[in-house]
Amino acid sequence: MAACIFCRIIKGEIPSLKIFESEKTLAFLDIGPLSKGHSLVIPKYHGAKLHDVPDDQLHEVLSIAKRIAIAQGLQDYNILQNNGKIAHQQVDHVHFHVIPKPNETEGLGISWPTK
Ligand code: C5P
Repeated sequence: MAACIFCRIIKGEIPSLKIFESEKTLAFLDIGPLSKGHSLVIPKYHGAKLHDVPDDQLHEVLSIAKRIAIAQGLQDYNILQNNGKIAHQQVDHVHFHVIPKPNETEGLGISWPTK
């Protein structure tokens, strides 16, 4: 779907900070991060909601989300996937959020000088 913003990101028509790309899957940093390192993992197949996407287009997505969490060294994080306006879905192309949940010590990755 040409008007879909994530399809346009997949095609390279809109820039994104890519983390991973394969034949069926793309991962990139969220443009409005809820925490430092917040990323999105999407199937390249266009489907608005999870039930619109065939299983064979989804197989890699959770595995990539897991690999991102491992690569970021996350211990506490949310994997989130919204379907429909009432469920707070803003972009009608299936996407999985990987949202780091830093603890109080880690903050948002900002380390303040001690001296
Ligand atoms: O799950 P939901 O649809 O609400 O989330 C959409 C996400 O897509 C938001 O976190 C938003 O910041 C992100 N987004 C993005 N790049 C865009 C448009 C939206 O990362 N160009």
